[in-house]
Amino acid sequence: MKPAMQIPLSSPDIGTLEKQYVMQVLDTPHLSLGPKLQEFEEEFARYIGCNYAIAVNSGTSGLHLSLKAIEIQEGDEVITTPFSFVASANCIIYERAVPVFADIDPETLALSPEFIEEKITSATKAILPVHVFGHPADMIRIMEIAEKHNLYIVEDACEAIGAEIEINKNVYQKTGTFGELSVFAFYPNKQITTGEGGIIVTNNPEKAALCRSLRNQGRFDNGTWLQHKILGYNYRLSDINCALGLAQLSRVEEILAKRTQVANWYSEQLKHTSDISLPSQSKSCKISWFVYVIKLAEKFSIDDRNLVIERLRESGIGCNAYFPPIHLQPFYQTYFGYRQGDFPVTESISARTVALPFYSNLSENQIDYVCTKLADILNKIR
Ligand SMILES: *Cc1c(COP(=O)(O)O)cnc(C)c1O
Repeated sequence: MKPAMQIPLSSPDIGTLEKQYVMQVLDTPHLSLGPKLQEFEEEFARYIGCNYAIAVNSGTSGLHLSLKAIEIQEGDEVITTPFSFVASANCIIYERAVPVFADIDPETLALSPEFIEEKITSATKAILPVHVFGHPADMIRIMEIAEKHNLYIVEDACEAIGAEIEINKNVYQKTGTFGELSVFAFYPNKQITTGEGGIIVTNNPEKAALCRSLRNQGRFDNGTWLQHKILGYNYRLSDINCALGLAQLSRVEEILAKRTQVANWYSEQLKHTSDISLPSQSKSCKISWFVYVIKLAEKFSIDDRNLVIERLRESGIGCNAYFPPIHLQPFYQTYFGYRQGDFPVTESISARTVALPFYSNLSENQIDYVCTKLADILNKIR
């Protein structure tokens, strides 16, 4: 039987402004390295409140260049979370450095400060926390540890544009302003999109210049087009993408507010559904809602969870198991010898999560349908 509704897991919020901005670029000869690139970078730096922003063609490229900018080299160790999208650990391997995982905090779902210090060795160079699902990591304590051990921080803020951390009473600081460099991403499932894309932010002028050069084949502003001073990459973001990003960025507050509304509707509807827990929110932060991820009760196995996902999909509801532990991805097990049981908090949570449909234009009616189906499905399998 055909489901009554079809609801995707995510959907970009594209309006007339986005179309207008993109079409305008197409009428110019500057499809790449043109004025929209600089404009997007300046607007983004202003929004975050930092000195420099360097746009790149993906969040992954941004993470890679950030690690090059702090001179991560073969054999260096970078402490990061196993509960994330795989790119946040892969970027470390690109430089033949070693991702050293530390387990997560069950509330923030991000790297737990408790587990970081025991992982520090003489080879440790940096900490790479991820603000997973848009909930900020405990940056205050992570900064203290980094300072004590003289380590760099690179923030993976790819899921957390506009999230904030309370650093003093009623004083908030945006995620992406704590690290030496921080990275945001604009794939279509993120809060704002450029189609594909990412951006590095930093206050360090030398590191900003280095990232700018690395993204553009090792060219520097004071050289010629065919002079490559260092080994670089083509990680450029086109002006078409930047124009889309500018339109989205001008609407970011509106989009984030809509997403908060959607999250509140879910929480309201699901608060009496038994056997699930809703996303938690530390008191000292503001979430930027990237996804709405519920957790099944501990009595459910990973097979039960997978069955819930299967049944939801049969009902036309897009959903997914965000995220499988990175250390249990096949090639991490092969190359680093990780096994089930290595990071118990991550594994226990990861086996019970379900990401429900989540985007800014999701209606109350659709949420109603998702929540009703979810309750039915849980009733049948428990
Ligand atoms: C989206 C995302 C990235 C970057 O992804 P790209 O597809 O390369 O833009 C990196 N880390 C996390 C945690 C992400 O969610």
